Amino acid sequence: MKRKKRLFALFGNPVAQSLSPLMHNAAYKAMKLDARYIAIRKEKARDIAKEMALCNIEGASVTIPHKTALFDCIDSVSDSALKIGAVNTLTFHNGTLKGDNTDWTGFVHAVEMFTTFKGNTFIVLGAGGAARAALFAILKKEGRAVIVNRTQSKGESLGREFGCDFFPLKHLGALEGHCLINCTSAGMHPLIDRSPIEGSAFPRCSFVMDMIYNPLKTKLCADADHAGIPTVTGLSMFVHQGADQIRLWTKLEPPVELMRHIAERALSHEAGQ
Ligand code: NAP
Repeated sequence: MKRKKRLFALFGNPVAQSLSPLMHNAAYKAMKLDARYIAIRKEKARDIAKEMALCNIEGASVTIPHKTALFDCIDSVSDSALKIGAVNTLTFHNGTLKGDNTDWTGFVHAVEMFTTFKGNTFIVLGAGGAARAALFAILKKEGRAVIVNRTQSKGESLGREFGCDFFPLKHLGALEGHCLINCTSAGMHPLIDRSPIEGSAFPRCSFVMDMIYNPLKTKLCADADHAGIPTVTGLSMFVHQGADQIRLWTKLEPPVELMRHIAERALSHEAGQ
């Protein structure tokens, strides 16, 4: 009997703009897997589990706004996702749904392409799910982290949880660290003329990394270029968090460079380059 096509999905709201289907489907084709990855818009997190069981979806990526709400709808969760407080990956196996987080592993891969964690101080800008994944990764890899956020109460509470100092956004220019990591959504498509540090100076640092990958060159990175600070885009993190999902679901090695090429080409095309 012919084996049924394997099904993977992205759940979120909105999902139409996502590059994940393009990148995952290209990877499965290159891996010669009879599999398909589709984007499904869902307003409520609890409907995701039902849909996966109903349609026999083996694995799913989860994006805004469901990364935190999913904890109530899954049967088990990895230690890392629990500590981060966000699930971006679901695996449906033998009737049970497990939550995981590959944002932090994707972040580790991306950072280790240009520097090391151990002993270096990272200035984490933001206090949402992406900042939590970055903090978890930095501390696990024996780096140091300080938090800067627009809303003081959120930044302070995150600082207490992860045992890091917090500084208000207006103090950013006075800070010093190895790398500034933008974990905010300011500057993301379509509001590409925004920067999270509008009106503040860059800290003294050797690198600026933006987790945003659309656009490829954010205003923050363009401003850092002007200030003479080397920049890293969110593309590598995006590619690696997707590659880690494929490893979890298929136990096979995905074609990472092809995935990067596909995503980069689509983003350059969108930017009219
Ligand atoms: P989130 O939970 O909604 O958090 C957003 C953060 O951005 C909050 O700390 C918020 O500050 C801050 N913020 C928003 N607008 C701002 C502005 N104009 N100025 C200063 N701060 C601002 O979002 P998230 O899930 O953490 O995602 C954040 C970004 O990371 C998104 O752009 C997402 O696409 C990106 N990301 C990329 C990858 C990748 O693979 N490359 C993976 C995950 C996430 P307040 O606390 O003051 O509201």
